[in-house]
Amino acid sequence: MSSISAHTPLMQQYLRMKAEHPGTLLLCRMGDFYELFYDDAEKAARLLDITLTRRGQSAGEPVIMAGVPAQALDGYLAKLVKLGESAAICEQIGDPAQAKGLVERRVVRVVTPGTLTEQTLLDDKRDAILLAVAPPKSARGEWGLAWMALTGGGLTLAQCEAAALPDWLARIAPAEVLWPQHQSLPNEPRWPHTTERPEWHFDAALGLRKLCAQLQVAHLDGFGAQALGAAHAAAAALLTYAEQTQGGTLPLLADLRVERAEHSLRLDAVARRNLEILQPLRGEDSPTLLSHLDSCQTAAGSRLLHDWLQAPPRDANVARARHAALQALIDGDLAALRGSLRGMADLERIAARIALKQAKPRELSALRDGLQRLPALRRQAAAFERCALLQTIDAQLDLPPEPAALLQRAIAAEPALNLRDGGVIAADFDAELDELRAIDTDCGSFLMELEQRERARTGIANLRVQYNKVHGFFIEVTHGQTDKVPDDYRRRQTLKGAERYITPELKAFEDKALSAQDRALAREKVLFEGVIEALQPALADIRRAAQAVALLDTLAALAERASTFGWVCPEFVEAPGIDIVGGRHPVIESRVDRFIPNDCQLDEQRRLLILTGPNMGGKSTYMRQTALIALLAYLGSYVPARSARIGPLDAIFTRIGASDDLAGGQSTFMVEMAETAAILRQATPHSLVLMDEVGRGTSTFDGLALAAAIAAQLHDRNRSLTLFATHYFELTDMVLRHPQAANVHVGAAETPQGIVFLHEVREGPASRSYGVQVAQLAGVPPAVIRDARKRLDALERQHQQQEAQLDLFAASAEIDEAEPAPAPTHEAVIEALDDIDPDTLTPRQALETLYRLKALREVE
Ligand code: ADP
Repeated sequence: MSSISAHTPLMQQYLRMKAEHPGTLLLCRMGDFYELFYDDAEKAARLLDITLTRRGQSAGEPVIMAGVPAQALDGYLAKLVKLGESAAICEQIGDPAQAKGLVERRVVRVVTPGTLTEQTLLDDKRDAILLAVAPPKSARGEWGLAWMALTGGGLTLAQCEAAALPDWLARIAPAEVLWPQHQSLPNEPRWPHTTERPEWHFDAALGLRKLCAQLQVAHLDGFGAQALGAAHAAAAALLTYAEQTQGGTLPLLADLRVERAEHSLRLDAVARRNLEILQPLRGEDSPTLLSHLDSCQTAAGSRLLHDWLQAPPRDANVARARHAALQALIDGDLAALRGSLRGMADLERIAARIALKQAKPRELSALRDGLQRLPALRRQAAAFERCALLQTIDAQLDLPPEPAALLQRAIAAEPALNLRDGGVIAADFDAELDELRAIDTDCGSFLMELEQRERARTGIANLRVQYNKVHGFFIEVTHGQTDKVPDDYRRRQTLKGAERYITPELKAFEDKALSAQDRALAREKVLFEGVIEALQPALADIRRAAQAVALLDTLAALAERASTFGWVCPEFVEAPGIDIVGGRHPVIESRVDRFIPNDCQLDEQRRLLILTGPNMGGKSTYMRQTALIALLAYLGSYVPARSARIGPLDAIFTRIGASDDLAGGQSTFMVEMAETAAILRQATPHSLVLMDEVGRGTSTFDGLALAAAIAAQLHDRNRSLTLFATHYFELTDMVLRHPQAANVHVGAAETPQGIVFLHEVREGPASRSYGVQVAQLAGVPPAVIRDARKRLDALERQHQQQEAQLDLFAASAEIDEAEPAPAPTHEAVIEALDDIDPDTLTPRQALETLYRLKALREVE
């Protein structure tokens, strides 16, 4: 593009602002539109489906532009942000009517996926999280993380090693990640929307200074965060960016938290996905654990529940306190409490927007109404006096009366949507505003009253006080009467039959009246800003109350769920293990007519259950329900079971189902093995491990060998509490040599009508797999079923004859030619087989051994 100086002044102004916001669409306010220019215009036209136009010329070229109506801005912004774009909003700062030459314009706000604060752009029930990641300064250093929701008010710090980064990302689930420029982003984990920031923004000393200043403390010892240099560096970038996107205003920072991996139950991205905690595996609207639990009455309650599910505390005492609160709520008047919470304003988000000076009139009236409801809520919470957690809520709801009183006096009962429409500040709050409004509304009566007075004073019976647009206010006296006009009348205009005058009083009134409306609006703006300013010191208190409301709502929702579904309070015990009697799957139980409850017993003497049985028999459901019950217990919820005793847990790992990671270029088997490898590396004796059909993605022997080696490793080395579902019957022999392994199976019965799944988990291995029966049930054509049965019979016979290898093609040859297939008998293979001790092999060795065997077979 040509040099800036060749452009028109307006385009020069635009290009200068654009240079400060590279990579961001710049929307410039021009009258009733926000306009985009040049490349931005072309991009926006494509993304938003708006018309591209050319207007005038600048630097000898036509100006390419596209615009959106100012009224509809939010809708377009929502669309852009959804597409992962950022937008800078540039407003006219000066008054266009008063400006000489070009109106001053400034970028007042940058909208990005992680910095949304507008209610219209945000999901009510979910925070948009902004995360800054500071890579380590040395090879052995830790990564620094700092994150916040700009509409929240709390910032969290954490540090971790590189290997733990994917877990943290899954736990935080940010909408946007800030990352230092010129540093290469690791491939793993998969990153959400990333924004590069200058490296010097990631400065630990700067971060510490900023945090201390914001929290008004001398050091961060009180938060346990003084020594977290890497996280301070991330916080520096986070706060700088937050401030810049909000037009220079810092977000509310009412509290600082430090999270450590060992504080919460570890759930990696795979487990979160497989257990369908926040998102369903398939179908956007399918139920999840969150959707099933979330009967919160307020959006803030839903957000808190979301947070709890993201990071269930490992300390059972946290859950115990929540369980006690649930019990108290169930015993009390839960319905009345939930009724009082319904429709409560989103105090947390409103407080955040007041801090950012972005609050709209209706947000202040909602805050006023919300604050007025707190005392009644407090009285209700106080009724649960025996419960410690509910008592803390009661104390947090105790707010000083000033903010509510100020809002009550200042804000109209039902204010206009926008400040520019007027009617936002209440009557009797400000004498000047009242007077300005009175002028506007009482203009007519003032003129009549003045007319009466002037007639009486002058004795001119036909004197008239009037107004027109061109000449303003005047007193009209017919020519015959002009000699009676008093001295303070100044002639304004002479007409054919009359003179028009103005008096100092009328002139003063005119000045007031003509601008009364504009001035009333301006006054309202000043007063509104004054209210926002006056509320600033109260925001930390308001946020505290908001958190208490959210906590009360979340607990009340969990109490409601527990009593609606007949869930019980779990018990925490010291000994490692899980002992569930009559457990159910929390989500599926309410979606089937009759859910069959099942027990699950895992302890130090019985740490690995080999789970066999037909497909569709209920193996995955059983495994998932066990994990979900444990998760619910640690979360502080009641659980779907007759009783549940849960020992200490540090993590839940899952390897369930086959999923191709096509985007990542990995095959099903590769994904399966990568997930398995991660579990084998990390699971401890306090971990709950769910393994579903490991080894399915490869050939039978490969798969069997791997499954056996993996199960043995989990039993012998990891010593984790493991549920191992498999279709390899060979694995059921494992219990012979592994004393802490046991067999369980899901029952099925064959009836003349076909297979019936009993969904009952019983001790011992399954007698058979019922694969063909399940295929029949699934509608596989009868001819194929018949053929499969024949092949199965042949294979089973072959197996019984102790043939060394299961070979489907050998079986098919037998069917076709009615002759048994030749079995490999080469000595070298047998020798090699003799040399193998499966129990001592690592998974890798098992795989290598298999390749060796295959190679021998090929030589043969
Ligand atoms: P598998 O993993 O053995 O193939 P699933 O666990 O996927 O089987 O279960 C298949 C279906 O059976 C589930 O979708 C559910 O509808 C039903 N089901 C599973 N367990 C039970 C149960 N305990 N009670 C009632 N229905 C169940």
